[in-house]
Amino acid sequence: MNGVWFLDLWQAKCNQDPATVFPDWNPREDRIGILSPHDDDALLGAGYAILAGREMGVAVCVMVVCNGCAGYSTAEQKFSIVEIRRRETLEAYSRLGLAPEDIHRFDVPDFSAAARIPWELPGNEEGIIADLIAELRRRRVTRFFIPNGYREHLDHEAVYDLGRYASSQTGDAILVDYAEPFAVRSVHVYSVWGDFPPALAEGAPPELRANKAVVVPQGWEEKVRDGIRAFRSQGAIIENLAKAREGRGCSEGFLELYQDLDPRPNLDYGPYVSAVNRILRGQVLKI
Ligand SMILES: [Zn+2]
Repeated sequence: MNGVWFLDLWQAKCNQDPATVFPDWNPREDRIGILSPHDDDALLGAGYAILAGREMGVAVCVMVVCNGCAGYSTAEQKFSIVEIRRRETLEAYSRLGLAPEDIHRFDVPDFSAAARIPWELPGNEEGIIADLIAELRRRRVTRFFIPNGYREHLDHEAVYDLGRYASSQTGDAILVDYAEPFAVRSVHVYSVWGDFPPALAEGAPPELRANKAVVVPQGWEEKVRDGIRAFRSQGAIIENLAKAREGRGCSEGFLELYQDLDPRPNLDYGPYVSAVNRILRGQVLKI
């Protein structure tokens, strides 16, 4: 891919190898899945990831949680906005090369994602976590992008939680009748507009909360902006977000940021055993 750079910001490393962002990248096995709280979020926050996946010839899917029912800017659209946005979504992502079958919709009402997460809802209705686990398995997603869960939006925070917990369950031998278990290989948090949460990794520079970046040529940014313009019903909101994209400009093009996430960090007993042994030794010597 000409003019595309993958960066590890904390290690000040930059090259044209996707493995810099996606550990052990294998284009014959990898598939990219992007969990999007609302229809435009994947485009706004992970548009370059979509284009990079397409360019590398791997399958890319976008899974949209909310149906956009709150997104009407005129009262007349109140009862037609969901259908309008469904059409806009297909058009927007088709401008980035995705087909209708690459888009999965959970059709949850806006501002309601948090209450719809559990497997079983009151009244025996099924929530979205089982559907998401099945979808990730069926599509055999290996590189999973989830939205920033840090002070962006009620639905974004909920979908972040949904994504990080679903991502660690897809490979487990649970809900096996929903689809064959299949493990996600890496999880990447993308930002729609808010700053990332402070990085927990030791030695992480406080001013660089995201640890990975991709830099793309101007043509890719124009493609994303073309996709954004397809959301005509969201004009007033998207205008400001599109303006904010100017801040992505860098010397070699435009950048998109990601924060790696280990959704299930193992507990390392080593340091605790050493500490406990040290304390015990001191205590035993005193007796
Ligand atoms: Zn959103």
